[in-house]
Amino acid sequence: GQNSAPDYLKGLNPEQRLAVETTEGPVLVLAGAGTGKTRVLTTRIAHILATGKAFSSQILAVTFTNKAAREMKQRIGHLIGEGNVEGMPWLGTFHSIGVKLLRRHAELAGLKSDFTILDTDDVVRLIKQLIQAEGLDDKRWPAKQFAQMIDGWKNKGLGPADIPEGDARSFANGKGRELYKAYQERLQTLNACDFGDLLCHPIRIFRAYPDVLKDYHRRFKYILVDEYQDTNTAQYMWLRLLAQRPQSSPLEGEVPAKRAEGVATEGTARSSSTGASSTAARTPPDRASPGHPPLKGEGNSRPATVNICCVGDDDQSIYGWRGAEVDNILRFDKDFPGATIIRLERNYRSTAHILGAASHLIAFNEGRFGKTLFTDRNDPEDDKVHVHAAWDSEEEARAVGETIEAYQRQKHNLNDMAILVRASFQMRAFEERFITLGLSYRVIGGPRFYERMEIRDALAFFRVVANGGDDLAFERIVNVPKRGLGEATIRQIHDTARALRIPMLEAAGNLAESDEMKPKPRAALREVAANFERWQKALETTPHTELAETILEESGYTDMWKNDRSAESPGRLENLKELIRSMEEYESLRAFLEHVALVMEAEQSESLDAVSIMTLHSAKGLEFETVFLPGWEEGLFPHQRALDEGGRSGLEEERRLAYVGLTRAKKNLHIWFVSNRLIHGLWQSTIPSRFLDELPETHVEVAESGNSYGGYGNSYGGGSFASGRGGRQNPYGASRFDNIGEEKSFSNTYSTPGWQRAQANRTEATDRNWGTRSGHQV
Ligand code: ATP
Ligand code: MG
Repeated sequence: GQNSAPDYLKGLNPEQRLAVETTEGPVLVLAGAGTGKTRVLTTRIAHILATGKAFSSQILAVTFTNKAAREMKQRIGHLIGEGNVEGMPWLGTFHSIGVKLLRRHAELAGLKSDFTILDTDDVVRLIKQLIQAEGLDDKRWPAKQFAQMIDGWKNKGLGPADIPEGDARSFANGKGRELYKAYQERLQTLNACDFGDLLCHPIRIFRAYPDVLKDYHRRFKYILVDEYQDTNTAQYMWLRLLAQRPQSSPLEGEVPAKRAEGVATEGTARSSSTGASSTAARTPPDRASPGHPPLKGEGNSRPATVNICCVGDDDQSIYGWRGAEVDNILRFDKDFPGATIIRLERNYRSTAHILGAASHLIAFNEGRFGKTLFTDRNDPEDDKVHVHAAWDSEEEARAVGETIEAYQRQKHNLNDMAILVRASFQMRAFEERFITLGLSYRVIGGPRFYERMEIRDALAFFRVVANGGDDLAFERIVNVPKRGLGEATIRQIHDTARALRIPMLEAAGNLAESDEMKPKPRAALREVAANFERWQKALETTPHTELAETILEESGYTDMWKNDRSAESPGRLENLKELIRSMEEYESLRAFLEHVALVMEAEQSESLDAVSIMTLHSAKGLEFETVFLPGWEEGLFPHQRALDEGGRSGLEEERRLAYVGLTRAKKNLHIWFVSNRLIHGLWQSTIPSRFLDELPETHVEVAESGNSYGGYGNSYGGGSFASGRGGRQNPYGASRFDNIGEEKSFSNTYSTPGWQRAQANRTEATDRNWGTRSGHQV
C-alpha cells in the first residue's frame, strides 16, 4: 500500500508514480520541459532493479548524451544503493550502445572487433581521396558535402543500394551511389566505421541474423528511451527491431503461435541469465503489422507486448535537421498497441516567470500537440526574465561576464550558470572574455580539447598502434615530426598498399626493405616501421599511459614542440600531458581511444567550479540555476538557414530550440541581443529576434540604464509591445526592442572604419577555426 512505498517512490506525483510502476507493456510519457520525465525513467530503472524484475544487465536504457548516462547511473545508485546497480552495461547513447553491439558482432559486418571509429575530419579526408581517385574535381564536388549526404542517408538507415535515384544522381554526375559504395568498401579495408555505421551495421546484422537478434530479445527485458522525440529513422528502426518481438514470447507465457521460425539457435553463451527456457520464437501467421507500414526487412512479426518506456516532448524536437522524426513519438501507440500514455503537467524546474515566458513563446508554433504546464512556485521575489541589449558581441561578452561576477559576489556557484549559444562561433567571444577575467569555464558538447592539432597528432600515433590498419591516422603522422618523407614517398606507400591490399604501415615496412627508395627516406621509413612494431608489441605488456608517453618521446613528437619557439608550444606540451593524464581513467589504450571517438563532451575538470558554455542543441535535458542566452537576433536566432528554407517547419524548429533554451533555467534567465554582429567576416547591423517579441510582457523585464556596459537601453519604452504579436510580417517592421538598436547605431566606435576592418579580419581568422566546432552528440 501507499504507506509501505519504498523511499524512492516518495515525492513523486501520482502520474509520475504511474509511469514508474507500470513496468509491463508499452508506456509513453509525453510531457513538457521540466516535468520530471528523466526523473521518471531513472526511478523506473531503480524500481525494476529494487523489485527484482530484472538484473541490471537486462535493462537497455538510451539517453541522449554520455553525460546524461553517467548522471542517470549515479542517481540510480543513490536511489537504491550503489551495490544494486552493478554497472548498467546497456545504459548509454544510441551510439555508445551501437559500438558495444558492433564490437561483439564485428565479423558479421565484415570488420574486426578492434575497428576504429572515424571522426568527421577523417571521413572528409577519406572521401576527398575517393573523389580524386575517381578523377573528379574535388572543388566542384566538395568532400564535405558528400560526407553530409552520406550521413543523411545513414540517419535514414539507407545503404548504397537503398538510396533514392534522385539523391544518387545529384552528386558527382550521377556517381553518388558508386562513391558511397566505394566509401563503404574503403572503410572495411581500413577496419573502420563512421558514426552512422554504429547504428546501421547493427541494424543490418539484426536483420540478416535473426538468431543474433533473438538473443537480444531474450536479454533485454526492459527498454527505456529518453528524449524520444529526437530519434532519427535509423535509431527508430534499431529500437523497433529490439523492441518488437515475434508474438508469444515464452517470457510472457502467451499462447504459442502456429509456425516455428526457420532459424532457431539456442543455448548460445549469450543467452540471458533469467533462466527462461526460451524455445524457438514463433512467427505469427498474419503478415501485416497493424497501424504502420512494415519496415523493410523487418520480417512478418506482429508486435507483441514489450516492456518499453519512452519519454519525450514534441515541443523539444530540435534535431530535424539531422534526420530526427518527431512523428516517431506521435505514432507510438500505433507501433505499440495498447500503450499506456501518460502526461505530466507540473513543472518542477522553473519559476513562474520563466515557465510563463517559455509557454507563451512555444504557443506561436502551429504544428504541436499543445500541453498545459503549471508550477506551484510563486515567489514574489523571483526575477522576471531579463532582456538586455549590447552593441556587439564583444560588449555582449563583457556584459555577460560582469553579470556572472555579480552573481558570484552573491555567492552563486559558477557550476550553476550556463551560456547557451545558437552557433558555436559565438563561443569564442565568451571564452576570450572569460580568459581575460580569469573566470573558469568549460565548453560542453564541442570536442574542443580533442580537436587541437597536438592532440589529434598524438591520437593518430596511438590509433596506429592500436590498429595497424588505420591508414588515415598513419598518413597524418608518418612525416611528423618532419623526417624528409615527401609527397612522392607517401604516394609510393599508398600505391604499394593499394596494389598489395595491405595497410600503409605494412607497405612502408616493405618499402624500407626494398631498394626502390633513396637512402634517406628509406632510413626514415625503416625507423617508422621499427617504431610501430616495437610499440605494438609493448601494447601487450606495458601500462597504456606509460606506453603513450614512450610513443610521444621516441617518435620525437614531444621534442618537436620543446624545440618549437612559437608562443603556442608550451600550451601544446601541457595539453599532451593532460591527454596522458586523462588516459589513466581507462583500462586500456583501446578503451581510451573509443572514449575519445565517442565523447564530444569535454571531459575536463568536472569537479572545477566553472561556467558552462555550450550550444542550445547540446543543452537538451540539462538544467541550471542561471542561464544566459546571447545572440537573439534575426539571422542568428532564428538562424538564417531556417529562414531561407521558407515554410513553417524551419522556423518552428528554431522556436522549439528557443523553448529548450528558456526552459533550461531554474531561477534566473538573461537574454541578450546585439545591434552589430560579425557574421562570416562581415559586420552586419542586426535586428532583434522575433522571438523576443513573442515573450509575454508580464514575465519580461528589459534592462534599464546604468548598466556598466554602456549607456544604452535607457530610452527603452517607446517601442511598440504589440507590434510583434503573431510573428512579424515585415522583418524590418517595428518591434518593441528596435529602439535600443537604433540608438546604438550612432555610436562613435562604429564610424571608425579602420577599427572595423581590423576587428573584422581578426575575428574572421579566429572564427574559421572555431566555426567548425560542432560534432555529433553521442
Ligand atoms: P526536460 O524535458 O528538460 O528533459 P524532464 O521532464 O526530463 O525535463 P527532469 O529533468 O526529470 O524533467 O526534472 C526537472 C527537475 O524537476 C529536476 O530537478 C527534478 O529533480 C525535479 N523533479 C521532478 N519531479 C519531481 C518531484 N516529483 N518532486 C520534486 N522535484 C521533482
Ligand atoms: Mg529530461
